[in-house]
Amino acid sequence: MPEDLEELYQEVILDHYKHPRCHGALPNPSQRLCVYNPLCGDHIELTVEISENKIKDLAFTGHGCSISQAAASIMSDLCKGKDVSQVLGFCNKFKGMMRGEESGETVEILGDAVALEGVRKFSARVKCATLAWEALEKCVLEHQKT
Ligand code: ZN
Repeated sequence: MPEDLEELYQEVILDHYKHPRCHGALPNPSQRLCVYNPLCGDHIELTVEISENKIKDLAFTGHGCSISQAAASIMSDLCKGKDVSQVLGFCNKFKGMMRGEESGETVEILGDAVALEGVRKFSARVKCATLAWEALEKCVLEHQKT
């Protein structure tokens, strides 16, 4: 990856870490889930309002490393207001990107989340980046059972 691109990605991650989007907790969520990454000590609590097959709203709180919190902000920003089927597609693409199965243009629809691709080089940190995405995926799948 070119160095200037890597710097740009660092800035995107830092910006989300310092100014998290969708931060907080919804008062009456359809789903609420706390997830924990024991490898790094990251916590995320996600609240999601799902209706008419859409992520009407979502919010998160948490603490942990900058990657985990930035990833939660990026994920929330991207998935808010989207159709459930589209969001499940995003989750799959993101996990595929972190496994090295997707890259470049095929993940452009993930927006700022592409900035997290570089985390893949540090295998111990991949879980930090995927934690929030797995939480949302679980919330959506759980909701579909009801
Ligand atoms: Zn972490």
